[in-house]
Amino acid sequence: MAHILNFEFQDVKDILAKAGLKPFKAKQLWDWVHVKGVLDMDNMLNISKSDKSIMAQLFEFDELEISTQQNATDGVIKFLFKLHDGHEVESVFIPETDRGTLCISSQVGCTLNCRFCHTGTQGLSRNLTASEIVAQVHKARSVIEDWNGRGEKRNITNIVFMGMGEPLYNYDNVKKACKILMCDHGQGYGTRKITISTSGVVPHIQDISENLGVNLAVSIHAANNEARSKIMPINKKYPLEELMAAIKKFNLKEKRKIFWEYAPLKGINDSVQDAHDLCDLIEGVKSKVNIIPFNKWPGSPFDPATDEALTAFYKTMQKRGVLTTIRKTRGEDILAACGQLRSETSKINTVSIEFPETVKQYGTDRQKEKIKVNIEE
Ligand code: SF4
Repeated sequence: MAHILNFEFQDVKDILAKAGLKPFKAKQLWDWVHVKGVLDMDNMLNISKSDKSIMAQLFEFDELEISTQQNATDGVIKFLFKLHDGHEVESVFIPETDRGTLCISSQVGCTLNCRFCHTGTQGLSRNLTASEIVAQVHKARSVIEDWNGRGEKRNITNIVFMGMGEPLYNYDNVKKACKILMCDHGQGYGTRKITISTSGVVPHIQDISENLGVNLAVSIHAANNEARSKIMPINKKYPLEELMAAIKKFNLKEKRKIFWEYAPLKGINDSVQDAHDLCDLIEGVKSKVNIIPFNKWPGSPFDPATDEALTAFYKTMQKRGVLTTIRKTRGEDILAACGQLRSETSKINTVSIEFPETVKQYGTDRQKEKIKVNIEE
């Protein structure tokens, strides 16, 4: 028997119809689960006892278990969720003034072994099911009491697949989870509100563009094959020529951009020439580059770029007219790029943070305000 969160609305209707229940019963059930956030059947008040007993034989309704929950002083919440087989995955809620982002995982561990990534050192245990992906959102919304509205009224406004795992190596389940979360009868997340971040797995990029329509982020980290293959072995399988060909075919709807994640590593990909190479690589693609200062984790073979190198890199991007931000506020720092989640989240409770000169000089007012608050705390 599969979990109720594993099904799209039409599937639930079909399953209940086969069991002799009318379509409006599916709507009632869907409403409890995906609009009111209720998984406890005892609390589904307008469903009769006899219907509940039929539904209970068709679906599981267990809540996702929380292993640990860390609440940071700035509102960031790190969840470590325990799955039914004992594996654990992380999600992070990052509130901001104008939105709230939930960063979720798609796999337990990861096969791709990007050299700068802590998750990559763990290997892959297994893919998450669609219900385990949806459940991260469901549980997080319950914890922060977020089942009181849709759209801008809710606190978790954005969902990003930037947690553990490569989403496109578990694409069927990621796609299904997105469809469940986007369902108009339920949670109704818009395509602009969901972002899939990939290390560059080419085959599914077109399907995201044509059939899913959500945002795409690419962990690029180097703009030539030699450097990229050294730090991201996936580049040997899908070199930059193939990746860029897929990106150039990606149908960017109005005002949409491809998000590029770039973590400058000392002596590897942090030179001014590297910045020029990146600009050349993405020329002609509507883009936003997020520079993510690398946070060294125990055993990491790399060091972060110096402040001077980061500044020079950023200035070069600016001069070339590429929309670029340095992602270095507390919550965003935890979000980081694909693969830094596990190492970053352990730092949530850090009280004072020294930010790079580049952020002090070029960060937005909002970033600076956050820095100020963080340092004062
Ligand atoms: S960066 Fe992402 S794709 Fe690469 S090993 Fe880490 S989790 Fe996997």
